[in-house]
Amino acid sequence: MDARRPPPYLPAEMKDLKLPEITYPLSIDTVGMCIATGHEISMHCMTCRRYVTLNLVTIAKRHGMDYPSLAPSLEKVVVCGACQEAGRDGRRVEFRLTPPTVADGIVPWPRQEGRAG
Ligand SMILES: [Zn+2]
Repeated sequence: MDARRPPPYLPAEMKDLKLPEITYPLSIDTVGMCIATGHEISMHCMTCRRYVTLNLVTIAKRHGMDYPSLAPSLEKVVVCGACQEAGRDGRRVEFRLTPPTVADGIVPWPRQEGRAG
């Protein structure tokens, strides 16, 4: 599988963005790598208890595919919009990385070339 060709599950606005090459050992540590491998990041607000899936495409467009996907970096660019609008501290958030599942649709898991299965 050509890692630089957009996977079919990508939204239309992603088709013009360049995905990072998937290399092994697999390290899901950038926004681009999350998108390329079908991972999602959700945010849980500890103030209002809201739980939302982040739009990684928007984050990648604003900060680049190489932007780190670990919590200390995400905390700098993601806030709870509901809390911020209500004048509360929108920065009391935590993040969860979710791998792609069969239930999300057909997600071709990137496999190392030459390896069966
Ligand atoms: Zn909130």
